[in-house]
Formats: sequence, structure tokens, C-alpha cells
Amino acid sequence: MTDTAIRFANYWLEQALAEEGDSTLPAPPLEGDASCDIAIVGGGYTGLWTAIELKRRRPGLDVRLIEKHICGWGASSRNAGYLLNMWAKYPTMRRLFGVERALAVGHAADLALEEVIAFCAENGIDAEIARRGWLWGATLPQTFDEWRPIVDALAPYQVSPLREISAEEIADRWGLTGLHGGAIDEKAGHLQPGKLVRGLRRVAIERGVTVHENTPMTGLHRGSPPSLSTPGGTLRARRVVLGMYAWAAQLPELRRSLAVTGYANAVTAPMPERLEKSGFADGPAFNDTRNMINSLRPTAGRRVLFGKPGRALAWAGNTGEAFEHDTGWLLDAERRRRELGHIMPDLEAAYAWSGPIDRTKDGLPFFGRLPGARDILYATGFSGDGVGPCRMAGKAMAAMALDEDGDWADFGLVRPPMQDLPPEPVRWIGVRMVRSALARTDAAIHGGRKPGPVTRGLTGLMSAGIASRGDE
Ligand SMILES: Cc1cc2nc3c(=O)[nH]c(=O)nc-3n(C[C@H](O)[C@H](O)[C@H](O)COP(=O)(O)OP(=O)(O)OC[C@H]3O[C@@H](n4cnc5c(N)ncnc54)[C@H](O)[C@@H]3O)c2cc1C
Repeated sequence: MTDTAIRFANYWLEQALAEEGDSTLPAPPLEGDASCDIAIVGGGYTGLWTAIELKRRRPGLDVRLIEKHICGWGASSRNAGYLLNMWAKYPTMRRLFGVERALAVGHAADLALEEVIAFCAENGIDAEIARRGWLWGATLPQTFDEWRPIVDALAPYQVSPLREISAEEIADRWGLTGLHGGAIDEKAGHLQPGKLVRGLRRVAIERGVTVHENTPMTGLHRGSPPSLSTPGGTLRARRVVLGMYAWAAQLPELRRSLAVTGYANAVTAPMPERLEKSGFADGPAFNDTRNMINSLRPTAGRRVLFGKPGRALAWAGNTGEAFEHDTGWLLDAERRRRELGHIMPDLEAAYAWSGPIDRTKDGLPFFGRLPGARDILYATGFSGDGVGPCRMAGKAMAAMALDEDGDWADFGLVRPPMQDLPPEPVRWIGVRMVRSALARTDAAIHGGRKPGPVTRGLTGLMSAGIASRGDE
């Protein structure tokens, strides 16, 4: 198989839908005007976890969820399935929120990871969860201990998410070569994201949530109570929860807090013998230490998934078609050979797909009430790490929608939109410049050169890589 025979389709979602068969045809769209207690926009992890949590807290609540396509169409089925906590972002969180609140977010994200696993087990969701760890592997000797500031910062609080791992152990256990050691988080893992999101949809419906698919929100009325326009009718609700991910950047209140960039994934054809022989069949979720991160992980079907940031960049929050076919960089064979060939040679895509990333400047999500419209809640900005954290977002959204804020009132990620990105065209030009500076830095340091001062200055402007470099 060569890349020319590739299918441009989301492997995870296709697989999940094929297993469901006809049993879950799209739920009927909204037809006519309706009202409910809580309306949710978006049928991904955020919207579905919110719906499930609302029903757990108040089983009699009338909850309706609208989704413009089918549940799982968005990032929740397109991701790489890395099930991670948020400790790698602790230094950034400490700077922004202070020690106590940063630790609270870290522990909540740990709990979310455990809850995703437990929820799947309790509800018959076979999301192929493999708790085989998350490996952060150094591509250069000088990036070997990038993880150490995180470990040092957490040591006084008896939190030790990462263990040092040698190049030899990485090669022996999983056949990943050419690395300079790194760190592993044994509690993390990977899963089949499409099966997770479709499983959440099933459970939400079983618990009495009314789902309307093929129902785009075409207008958001910020009155009290708020309402949503759709092609089939208007939905009124006491509260509205926006689980719209990158598409939330279309709302003026959130636009200047999000830079929407592309990300692509591909899976190879099955290669059981090779993966079993090397040990990577039982391998972890791997990221390298580049700014423009590479991902590698095995799938349950003995394929390898590889992923890479794409080229697409939204203008004024407009997350359109460009994000559906943003696989260019990922499928550049020469680039792949250069960046991954020494770690795992001869990777060729059988399926490739892409999607938008709802990136914030600090690399952290934000949850809250829309400025000037306290009955409308949002959770977005996951910045490429949402599989575990969306569970946390769903709990926060449900509590806040019921005015039961409790501990969430002082939670670090509950914050107004940061509005810290410039308006267009400065943002588009600026993000593009930062992104190419990040790529140039990768090329320079891997070629044994020092990036120039302008490049260095630009890379400090936005979070990149795993731990939001430039933040400390
Ligand atoms: C290629 C890729 C790889 C990733 N890899 C990882 C990873 O390995 N690990 C990790 O933790 N995170 C990863 N992420 C991020 C993670 O997938 C997301 O953070 C997470 O899925 C967000 O869930 P969500 O429900 O907020 O968004 P989504 O799943 O995108 O759901 C939002 C939904 O809202 C719907 N919607 C939008 N606008 C409207 C409207 N006007 N009306 C009605 N519906 C609307 C969309 O159709 C969509 O289905 C990745 C993301 C991408 C794109």
C-alpha cells in the first residue's frame, strides 16, 4: 500500500458506525418550535458529557441536544485518542492560577481520566481503552529532560506523573529507535475516540436526552431566556450550553480567544507481525519533543496511527472546508521520513483525515458564562487535549447550568474569554508567522543550527509543543 491508495475518511468514525449498523440512524432533526430546560449545542464529548451529567443530577430535567451533522462528526471522532491528564501543562497553570488552583485542575483532570475509563466499563462502551502510558520521547539530546521542570515543580506536592525512561528501554519495549530517552506517564493511555463519542450518544439517549441531529444552530438569541434558531424551528431553554469546540470561534464573544488551526491523523494498513515483533502492538501513545509535534500510537486492529499539525488556519473564526482536507504536511513522505523515519520507518497511510484545533494562547481550555448573557454557557479551547478534559468540562457545564457551581466557582479553568488574540488580519498573519517560526525552529535545531533571534522571539508568543513552551 502506498499513500497514493489512501482513503480520505475518518477511520475511527467509519469503524464505529459500521459496528452500530442501522440501529442508530440519525436522530430526527428539530421540527417546529419547542422549549426545554437545558439546550445543548454540539454532539461531541463536551455536549454529551454535559447532557449525561445533567441527567445524573436531575433525572427529570428536559434536556435537548442539537448537532449540525451527527453526534461524533467533529473532533471527538477525529482525534488520535490520547487519553491524557493535564500535568504537562502544570507550569503554565501555576503561572496563571497559582499553586493551589493549578493543583486542583491537575487533580480534576486526573479524576476525569479515571471517570472516562470507569464510565465506559459501567455502560458497555467498548472504546478499546488501552492504558499503556503516554511517552514523551526526546528527538535531540538537549530535549531529553524537557519534562524535568514539570516533575520538579510537582515534587513538593507528592505528585509524580512522569518517570524518566531511557532510550534503551524505549527501544527494547516497543522498538522505537533513534530517541534520546524521555519520560513516561504510566497512567495515561489511548482509545478509539469514535467508539467513545458514539457510546456517549447511546447512553445520553437511553437516559432520556432528546437528540436532534442534522440540526444546525443558525442563530443564538442572547435574551433571557435564550433561544436557538434552527432551519426547522426555534428552541427555547432556561439555559443554553455551547459545546461547539472550534466552531465557537464564530461567536463574537469567543472569537478573539481562539486561534483555529488544522491537525491531521492517518492510520497505516494492519501490520500485525511487525507490531507484535517490535512490541509496539502494546505500545503507548507517543509524542516527540518537536514544536510541531508528531504522534504515533498503535490501534487495536494492529495499525499505527500517526499525526501532525496541519496548515489550515481560520480567518475570523471561520472553520470551513479547509479543515476537512488538511493532510498535506502529514502525507509529505519526505518530511515523514525525516521526522519519523529513525523512530519507526516505512509508515504509509491507508486512511487520512483532519480537523480543527480550538487553540488558546496559553494552551488551556476555558469554561464560563457568555459575557452579557449569563444563561448561555461555553466550554472550549481544549488546544488539542480534550479526550479526558471534556469529561471535566461536562461536569462543570452541568453544575453551572443548574446554578450549583460549588467548587467550580473558583476552578482555574472557569474564566471569562481571555480575548488575548488580536483582531483580523493581524491574528491570521501573526499566527501564521508564529507557526512557521515554530517549524523553522524545529528544522534548525534538528539540523544542528541555532534559530535566529526573530524566530526565537516569535516562538515565545504562543504555546506550542507539549508543555506550552515559552510560558515559564
Ligand atoms: C485531528 C485531531 C486530533 C486530536 N487528538 C487528540 C488526542 O489525541 N487527545 C486529546 O485529548 N485530544 C485530541 N484532540 C482534541 C479533542 O478531539 C477535542 O478537544 C475534543 O474532541 C473536543 O470535544 P467537543 O465536544 O468540544 O468538540 P466536537 O467533538 O468537535 O463537538 C462539537 C460539535 O458541535 C457541532 N456544532 C458546531 N457548530 C454547531 C452549530 N452551529 N449547530 C449545531 N452543532 C454545531 C459540531 O458539528 C461538532 O460535532 C484532537 C483534535 C483533532 C481535531
